[in-house]
Amino acid sequence: MRTVELPQYDYDIIIIGGGPAGYSAGIYAARAGLKTLLVEGASTVSQITITDLIENYPGIPDGINGFDLMQLFKKQALKFGLEVMAKDVVAIKRNASSPIIWDVTAGETDFKALSVIAATGAHWRNLGARGETEFAGKGVSYCATCDGPFYRNKDVIVVGGGDTAIQEALFLTHFAKKVTVIHRRDRLRAAGILQKRAFAEKKIEFIWNSALTEINGKDFVTSAKIKDVKTGKITELQADGAFIFVGRLPYTDIFRGLLDLDTTGFIKTDENLKTSAAGIFAAGDCRVKLFRQVITAAGDGANAIHSAELYIEDLKGQTY
Ligand code: NAP
Repeated sequence: MRTVELPQYDYDIIIIGGGPAGYSAGIYAARAGLKTLLVEGASTVSQITITDLIENYPGIPDGINGFDLMQLFKKQALKFGLEVMAKDVVAIKRNASSPIIWDVTAGETDFKALSVIAATGAHWRNLGARGETEFAGKGVSYCATCDGPFYRNKDVIVVGGGDTAIQEALFLTHFAKKVTVIHRRDRLRAAGILQKRAFAEKKIEFIWNSALTEINGKDFVTSAKIKDVKTGKITELQADGAFIFVGRLPYTDIFRGLLDLDTTGFIKTDENLKTSAAGIFAAGDCRVKLFRQVITAAGDGANAIHSAELYIEDLKGQTY
């Protein structure tokens, strides 16, 4: 076996992101004996940690809270010796003198790595309705798990027709008197099982082919303007809260100019999760993919480490 003399570096792999993709990557990397640092954001949390119930993760038949599931992922990764740091990664670039090395700046500290896993996840998209920013935290919310209990016996609006909107609308029925789902089309995008539950839930009403255009109130939200997108007719709906679930945007600003991104900013990868830059792999919600789930993120984490391991073996001249 030929071995190659490499320039000095701190880690074989730096994983950026502490969600299901990041920690799955951490489990696989640390268990494989790769010197690995996982940097989880200091100013962001994984979306899954604010998810009330995950009931489709295999092996957990009774379902589990998202925060608890992530604690288990972390415990397993730490058991294998993963190093973890809570800092925001603010820059990543090729080392000026050794282009096979990636310089990763976490907080104010620079680290050198042979390979990087981008597992930075995504965050909720704003609707762009008038009053949305003004009433954020005063009736406008993007997290039913966090804010649902404030709406006991109150009327709330949910905007969106995807899995998140419907799952969260169902969750809100534990507290609210009435949940009105406003969707821009006449059918939902959400999975069949969620649709079935929502249609059977007496507290949930639907307003189809409609857009929420304006949120009104004094100190807190009291009503919203709803526009029928077919007729243009505008109606005012009394509500104490508006929960917005209209998709996600990726946390990929640090990769702009470095990696190929799609028009929304998601990282493009091949089937082995290689990005356009040698040595950087992407996993989970931050990459272009159709199905964003805990299980697909976890699968991505494992695949990304396998690809990174092959890449590192090649760099070290240890391919066999
Ligand atoms: P999504 O699937 O992209 O759905 C976004 C929803 O918001 C769609 O119904 C869309 O309408 C609507 N929308 C987008 N822009 C809008 C706008 N400007 N005005 C009004 N409505 C707008 O996003 P998501 O529901 O957050 O789900 C993201 C991913 O997470 C998906 O892959 C989903 O499967 C996954 N997820 C899974 C679960 C689960 O399995 N239990 C739970 C949560 C999320 P259109 O339908 O007309 O496009």
